[in-house]
Amino acid sequence: MQPKSTLSCPVCNGFSPFAASCPTCGQPLVDNGRYMDLFGDYSPYRPIDDAKLTDGLIDARTHQCPHYATCRHCGYEGVQLIQEQKY
Ligand SMILES: [Zn+2]
Ligand SMILES: [Zn+2]
Repeated sequence: MQPKSTLSCPVCNGFSPFAASCPTCGQPLVDNGRYMDLFGDYSPYRPIDDAKLTDGLIDARTHQCPHYATCRHCGYEGVQLIQEQKY
């Protein structure tokens, strides 16, 4: 029984480059890695009320992988959700 094994983040797995534009200035954002790897399991967008999902499997419900992104041009920083894909 492996219900979660079919989806994974293409950026974390190296299948796709991180690609997102700064919402403020439009320049490409820089990926700093998975949000939870950087800041522990705290999440500002914790899904509903299930804390069990914060052990690195927040995407179990949303199928999105949170990446912490920054902009070198204007200083913007925030979380970009990478849509997980089937492989
Ligand atoms: Zn990822
Ligand atoms: Zn910017």
